[in-house]
Amino acid sequence: MRLTALTPKAVLFDMDGVLYDSMPCHARAWLETAIAHGLQATAEDFYLFEGRTGKSTIDELFLRTFRRNASKEEMLSISEEKTARFNALNSEQVMPGAVEVVRQVKASGLQTLIVTGSGQHSLIDRLDRHFPGCFEREKMVTAFDVVIGKPHPEPYLKGLQKAGVSACEALVVENAPMGVQAAVSAGIFTIAVNTGPLPDSILLDAGADLLYPDMLSLAADWSNITANLLKSVD
Ligand code: MG
Repeated sequence: MRLTALTPKAVLFDMDGVLYDSMPCHARAWLETAIAHGLQATAEDFYLFEGRTGKSTIDELFLRTFRRNASKEEMLSISEEKTARFNALNSEQVMPGAVEVVRQVKASGLQTLIVTGSGQHSLIDRLDRHFPGCFEREKMVTAFDVVIGKPHPEPYLKGLQKAGVSACEALVVENAPMGVQAAVSAGIFTIAVNTGPLPDSILLDAGADLLYPDMLSLAADWSNITANLLKSVD
């Protein structure tokens, strides 16, 4: 029923696992860092945690392992260590199909925004290199803009604000269960792409309205999605 009220003006893209194939590097960097600090974790945990802030991930691991939150010093050194490991591993691999999806969205006159929990300072330069002319600095929500982070709707509500549109005028493309939860809680029609190792059911249970196995199949079907959305408005 939500479809009938949709008049898309903006698409809010998550970044890791959607535009970049960076999740395997994030998961490995997190797991190696966790093991080095005696924290209980598996690689799958980091796909389940994807989207939440680094701080809340570290606190979760400390609570699970030591039944207490991390100290300020532990928090800082662990997040620096994880970032260093990630930077050493990351090859800035663009997700196959992502450029095609973003180009189609742009070509149909919709705004394109990024809503990510990532806080890398070089983010916009990298996006400009791989998706030239597609994203603007002012139209991004990053770790620097949010306090709570996904799965809370906050990041997507900020994205709507930056786009100047309401929830029924936006679409979200997400790969993570907590990201889907955040977007759905913000009241936005959410397209999930399952680019990681988790079962489809986790993304559907999180509330995804549509599910694709990857960005290539989303690119191939994009014109059908928008045509169906417009048809359901008539
Ligand atoms: Mg993601």
